[in-house]
Amino acid sequence: MSSLFADWVAAATAVRGTTKKLEKQAALAAYFATLDDEDLAIAARLFAGGPFSRADQRVLNVGWSALTDAILERSRAKGDEIGASYQRHADLGDVAAELITSAPPDPRQLTLADLNAAFEEIAATKGSNAKRVLVRALMARATGPEARYVTKIAGGDMRIGLRESLVEEALAKAFGREREAVARANMLGGDIGTTAVRARSGTLEGAAFAYFAPVGMMLATPVLDLAEVGKRFPPPYLVEDKYDGVRAQVHKSGDRVEVFSRTLDRVTDRFPELLDALRALPGSLVLDAEILAFREGRAIPFVDFQRRLGRKEVGGEMQSEMPSSLVAFDILERDGRPLLELPLAERSALLRALPLEGPLRVPDQRRVDLTGDDLVQALEGEFSAARERGNEGLMVKDPRSPYRPGRRGMEWLKVKRALTTLDVVVVAVEWGHGKRHGVLSDYTFAVRDDEGRLRTIGKAYSGLTDTEIAEMTDHFLAHTREDRGRIRSVDPDTVIEVAFDSIQPSDRHESGLAMRFPRIVRLRPDKPVSEIDTLATALAIAARQGGAP
Ligand code: AMP
Repeated sequence: MSSLFADWVAAATAVRGTTKKLEKQAALAAYFATLDDEDLAIAARLFAGGPFSRADQRVLNVGWSALTDAILERSRAKGDEIGASYQRHADLGDVAAELITSAPPDPRQLTLADLNAAFEEIAATKGSNAKRVLVRALMARATGPEARYVTKIAGGDMRIGLRESLVEEALAKAFGREREAVARANMLGGDIGTTAVRARSGTLEGAAFAYFAPVGMMLATPVLDLAEVGKRFPPPYLVEDKYDGVRAQVHKSGDRVEVFSRTLDRVTDRFPELLDALRALPGSLVLDAEILAFREGRAIPFVDFQRRLGRKEVGGEMQSEMPSSLVAFDILERDGRPLLELPLAERSALLRALPLEGPLRVPDQRRVDLTGDDLVQALEGEFSAARERGNEGLMVKDPRSPYRPGRRGMEWLKVKRALTTLDVVVVAVEWGHGKRHGVLSDYTFAVRDDEGRLRTIGKAYSGLTDTEIAEMTDHFLAHTREDRGRIRSVDPDTVIEVAFDSIQPSDRHESGLAMRFPRIVRLRPDKPVSEIDTLATALAIAARQGGAP
């Protein structure tokens, strides 16, 4: 029989109960060692924070309201008790645990296999009502502590101080393997579950790159001014334009081509005009790229291109007016050979050897072998030239660096506009005045701190178009967590880019900072909430401004 979910919960509680990495690891490792292969795979996936593996494109699509509904039914609490409990915990999982603790236990104790089967069924079921029924049925069998984690996992918000890398470490420890070997197998195969089983059976080396299982995208660190580049790593520097479009990971094997977004969702159908050219490439490969549109050699501003992306069905009209191009800036895999560990300079050479034609291209790349003021001067020239070409700024990359999936490091630096924008997430919205009467037009937004908590940093009237504001109003009404009259707290799922004149210390917001003259530049639907700017970046901007004459 499958192992009890209660044991998983006990391990999760132990992990959550300590801030010490080694203790978390030990708790996980001890637990993993008790499971058979099937349960081990399920347990590892759940600890990684989701019901399914990364290679698996299934999603639960269970919203806040289906979860609160199930919690209400299981706990027999009243709607306002949920509200009050949420005020205390600011985490729906903790609300579930608190309210359900006093509910009578259900004799049908959940096993890992039960939970897995329930998630599979929810994912396979269409229609929100049918899903609700399944979520309720699942919740009906959960104890308070179990409900906490069912809610967290189904709601896509685990936050128990556990990263996938820690699960990898625990697996290495439990089964006496090298940490790097576990991480590599997991990255290639896209499934921490099968990786766990491989770790136990000693077959990590056999993990193959899974085509069509997108790997996390390597991220860049912003630099606040060009002089900072020289402090991050020594020359030479590979300098490319920073194209302002949408990030895409392309997988091709045989005749099949798929395009994945930065959130690792499949978006192939949105770019039909790229597919023939991609299909015509010889062999199999994985590319990292930016999709955007060009007109007469210049990049079309992202706000215009985004209009096209907003449409579900790409109409022939928009497509011919604004056909997209794909600028491939990295190659991760070629004919079954993983290239991630090769230095960027070698990957670039392989990329440039591809016969890219039509809508496919590579960025111009310049090698800059300078230091000090010469470096700054050269970069200044590059920056203006990139802006002339309609691009956002520069990417400065270390030619020695491997491709690190999902990591933000100092090996890719981004130099954007005057660097007076931050990507933030909306946490509360307010009804507007005057012309904006009847729409939710004032947004309060947050950055992320070191522990992953959202901390508010500012509030701005929407600088979006009327159509966008109307659409966002519908969205926020459907994603309200708490209606406090004028103000509503909302699901933190809307990323926006905010420009400002400066950032200063202030006790007005939770971050301890406030922006001067914040204005919303645009919506960033392409950017997942996990990648918004951090409190550390905001603090660095504030410190730099404070120190300026
Ligand atoms: P940001 O979206 O501001 O965090 O900046 C990083 C993004 O720049 C990446 O996610 C890519 O979508 C984009 N980008 C544009 N051009 C390049 C390039 N040449 N190399 C790497 N990333 C690029």
